[in-house]
Amino acid sequence: MTDPARMVRMVGNAEYRDQAEAALLAPGDTSMVFRVRPRSIVMACPDGCGETLVINLDNRADKAWRFDMRGEGLTLFPSVWREGGCESHFIVWRGHILWCDRFEEGNSEPVYNPEIEDAVMSALHEIQPRSAVELAEAIDELVWDVNRAAGRLVGQGLARSWKTKGGWVFVRA
Ligand SMILES: [Zn+2]
Repeated sequence: MTDPARMVRMVGNAEYRDQAEAALLAPGDTSMVFRVRPRSIVMACPDGCGETLVINLDNRADKAWRFDMRGEGLTLFPSVWREGGCESHFIVWRGHILWCDRFEEGNSEPVYNPEIEDAVMSALHEIQPRSAVELAEAIDELVWDVNRAAGRLVGQGLARSWKTKGGWVFVRA
């Protein structure tokens, strides 16, 4: 197999899914289906298997991903995981594709901005644990950015974290 895509390439919006799909030329190419509001992300599977992934953005229907176009490119939360077929599992973060389970050795995260740590600290509670999603909502930042910053704060002894049924949570140390 050839190297997988490491970056998302946005090829523009489309009104309908077949138009979006027709615009995809290479693995990682991505189009947004936008009809009055964002409906879905259509992506040529970045592992190069040739399949098209459809990621729902419409929270009135089914499970929806959070998406954000801030910074250098597309961000999706949570990770994208194809349960059948090629089983691709990856994170889309500021246009970067970060592979989980395979291809990980070539992953390259977006540049770290330590300024976010002060905001994350301000949103951390001393008793009430908060998830990265809750922290990100409180300070209007990207969940992946907040998750990384919170992890650094844990590493510096300024925060504590543990895993719950719903995922990792953080408090002030
Ligand atoms: Zn695939």
